[in-house]
Amino acid sequence: MSLDLRAINRCVRCGNCRSVCPVFEELGWESANTRGRIMVMRGLADGLKADADVLDSLNSCTTCGICTDNCPAGANVPDLIESARGHLVSQGIMTGAQERLSRYIFESGNTFGEQNERAAWLRGRSRLKEKSDFVYFVGCMNSYRYTETAARTYDLLRCFGVTLLPEEQCCGSPLLRTGFDARKLVNANVRQMKQIGARTIITGCAGCYTTLKKNYPASFRVVSVPEFLAEHISELNLKPLDLTVTYHDPCHLGRHNKIYEQPRQVIEAVCKLAEMKDNRQNARCCGGGGGVRSGYRDLSLRMARRRLKDVPEGVNCIVTSCPLCIRNLRDAGAGSSVIDLVDLVSIAAGQR
Ligand code: SF4
Ligand code: SF4
Repeated sequence: MSLDLRAINRCVRCGNCRSVCPVFEELGWESANTRGRIMVMRGLADGLKADADVLDSLNSCTTCGICTDNCPAGANVPDLIESARGHLVSQGIMTGAQERLSRYIFESGNTFGEQNERAAWLRGRSRLKEKSDFVYFVGCMNSYRYTETAARTYDLLRCFGVTLLPEEQCCGSPLLRTGFDARKLVNANVRQMKQIGARTIITGCAGCYTTLKKNYPASFRVVSVPEFLAEHISELNLKPLDLTVTYHDPCHLGRHNKIYEQPRQVIEAVCKLAEMKDNRQNARCCGGGGGVRSGYRDLSLRMARRRLKDVPEGVNCIVTSCPLCIRNLRDAGAGSSVIDLVDLVSIAAGQR
C-alpha cells in the first residue's frame, strides 16, 4: 500500500484541528495532533525512518473524525491514517499491539483470541432460520463480552424475521482500521450472507456498521440497531419509564455516518433525554477507537474520563450504541451507569 501524496498535500497546516483533536488535548505533542500526523506521513513519503515515535504518532489516532469535520481544506484524516498504517504494515512495520490484535483475529476470527462458541449467548433460544432477508450481525464485543445485550437485541429483532450468520466472523474492522488486509473475514461473512439470501444487515456495533457500509458489497443495505428500532418503534409496545438519560454519540455512528436523530427518537419514546455538553457532530470521542484502546490503554482511558465530564447532572444513566464506547466509558469510572440503547428498550418492552 502506498501513501496518497495528493490526499496528504490537501493539508495546508492551518492548525484548526489542534483545537479539536482529543489525543492532542491529552498529550500536547505536535506529533499527537492531526497536522503533526500528516507531517509525519509527508516525512515517510520523503524517506523518514518509521521508528517508535512515528508508530506512536500514527497509531494513537482514534480515527474519531472530528478534525475532518473542522478542516477547511477537506483532509480526510481517518482515511489518511488508515492508509499510512497500511503502508507500514505492508512492510512488516507495526507496534506490538497491532501484531497481537491481528494474530488473535487471524487465528480465531475474533478480536479476543477466544476459542469458545461465538453464539453461546443464544442458549435456549431457537437457532437460525436458513433463509431470511434480514441478518443481525452481532460483532465480537457483544458476542463475547456483552452477551446479554446480544441476546436482548436478537429477542427484539427476531420478531421481525431476523436471523444470524451460522458462523459469523469478526467484521474486519480492527484489522482495516489498523492497516491490515481483512478480505478473508469479509469474504467468509459475505458468503454466508448470500447463502441466507440476506439483503439487509443490522448491527448494534458502530465499528461494525462503518465496516459493513464501507468494506462490504454495496448491494447489502446496512442498518444500525438504532435506525431499525426507530423505524419499528410503534410496533414494540414500549412502556414509558420514569428515567432521564443522556446519549453519547459513538464516532462511527455519528460523525462517520450521520446517525444522530434515530437513537434520540428511540430514547424519547420511552423516557427523558438530557444532552451531553458536546453532542452530535461535536461529540467528544470516548477514546476507544482506531486501535487506541488496545495499543494505548492509559491514553484511551484519559479521553474517556474527559468525555464523562460532559455528562449532565442528575441523569440516571448514559446510553450509547457501541459496545466499545460502553467498555471504555465503564472502565473510565462510569461502571454500570453506561448501558446500550437496546438495554433501555428491553426494560421498556418488559423483557428485563
Ligand atoms: S485543519 Fe486540516 S488543513 Fe488545517 S492543519 Fe489540520 S488537517 Fe491540515
Ligand atoms: S481523527 Fe480524531 S484522534 Fe485522529 S487526528 Fe483527527 S481529531 Fe485526532
